Amino acid sequence: MEDSYRTKGLRKRLVEELMEMGINNETVLNAVGDVPRHFFLDTAFLKFAYTNKAFPIGAGQTISHPYTVAVQSTLLEVERGDKVLEVGTGSGYQTAILCAMGIKVYSVERQRSLFLKTKKLLSKLKYDAYLTYGDGYKGISGYGPYKGIIVTCGAPEVPKSLLNQLEINGKMVIPIDKEEGVQEMTRITKIADNQYKEERFGKFRFVPMLPNRAMG
Ligand code: SAH
Repeated sequence: MEDSYRTKGLRKRLVEELMEMGINNETVLNAVGDVPRHFFLDTAFLKFAYTNKAFPIGAGQTISHPYTVAVQSTLLEVERGDKVLEVGTGSGYQTAILCAMGIKVYSVERQRSLFLKTKKLLSKLKYDAYLTYGDGYKGISGYGPYKGIIVTCGAPEVPKSLLNQLEINGKMVIPIDKEEGVQEMTRITKIADNQYKEERFGKFRFVPMLPNRAMG
């Protein structure tokens, strides 16, 4: 795998495109500029790595659009050194973006094959995230509470155990099912124990958040 002048140039263009789409968080834009997205795609899709599209990553799953990744990373409002729980490791692209932002990432994936593949890739690329194979509905309780929780699959509702793993003043960014295959980006701020503020940020499309872990 190689990060050539060409892929670096394409990435610069992608950052400009995200700015035109309204992304203005510099830490996020720098991370998109740093992380070689083409390493996270199957070789068949390489030439599309820097277009604003979602692509299959195996086991019936997709890597999120760069725009979606940028929006969710911005909405988290986290800083260098903060702890973030990610539900749905998938390709590891979102994980790598958070690592590049200086975040301590704990990520859970329910598909065993994706977990194994991504664990290898992220360690090869020297992104130091804690990855687990498990059910994201349960979170990763041993390392919480978290300053931020990012759910990267469409959830039918807000999982209660994830709320419990959120710090006071922490934020969860989660796409919640609205209609068939469409989610509303939702941000939940934990104001106090059992007190939450909810904000909405428009419609997105994600693969579904499914119960339990799977062998595939
Ligand atoms: N963040 C990923 C997005 C991948 S798509 C990326 O940047 O590539 C969403 C992922 O969520 C899929 O890999 C899917 O297997 C996973 N997922 C769905 N339900 C889950 C659950 N309950 N727990 C953990 N992961 C889940």
